[in-house]
Amino acid sequence: MQTVLFNSTIFGPIHSRRLGSSLGINLSPNDGKICSFDCLYCEAGFNAQGPGTTGFPHRGDVSSKLEQKLIEMKQNGTPLDVITFSGNGEPTLHPDFGGIIDDTIALRDKYFPNVKISVLTNSTRLHDPKVSDALRKVDNNIMKLDSAIDATMRLIDRPNAPAFTTESVIDEIAKFGRQGIVQTMMLRGSHNGRHIDNTTDSEVEALIAAYRKINPREVMLYSIDRKTPEESLVKVEKEELQAIAERMRAAGITVQVS
Ligand code: SF4
Repeated sequence: MQTVLFNSTIFGPIHSRRLGSSLGINLSPNDGKICSFDCLYCEAGFNAQGPGTTGFPHRGDVSSKLEQKLIEMKQNGTPLDVITFSGNGEPTLHPDFGGIIDDTIALRDKYFPNVKISVLTNSTRLHDPKVSDALRKVDNNIMKLDSAIDATMRLIDRPNAPAFTTESVIDEIAKFGRQGIVQTMMLRGSHNGRHIDNTTDSEVEALIAAYRKINPREVMLYSIDRKTPEESLVKVEKEELQAIAERMRAAGITVQVS
């Protein structure tokens, strides 16, 4: 079974297609996964692997490990573009998420004041003011919207909460307006006998309508890059992503393909 990718709280720096030289912060356990989605494409594997044994990392440990790494990178002259919250699950589920964001901003300002802070979020916690207030403090809120059609979103992202809908999440993302970046994974395949394709005309039209409502700073379109737990999933090639992006651009949306 495919399992978690990151066995530490601080990882990298790694070169990210989308973000450049990125130092990662994993707020999930080091040996398990905690997420409010269970995406078929999750590089950290399915939630069925369990949450592991280490629990959420303590706020003080995140801060001290990050400081140690930033000092080391500064001494070695290691280039850094961005500090990115991602990892083995959804970072905004950490109970001290807001405090950790404050600590990270203070450390960034002290050691690498020009570096950006990004949070990759699945958008399920945006309705919590503690989470949305923290996100508003960072440079790049990268918020997931894989489909604007409920049935497809349920098939691809498999939210834990039965009440989670595309309509509610689009409204929450829209509150960030130009401060938000929307990230959409394009893919095809099948799962338990059900066909999946979020590149069809109706899917793209629904996404365009959602992006127009949200009015984000940018949309990031991407596809599968690594092994996925649902092995039938197929990558959408760059040329096709570019063609989809052109349709979105024609509707006035800023789109980056990676
Ligand atoms: S939201 Fe992210 S961490 Fe959670 S299941 Fe989906 S891809 Fe994995």
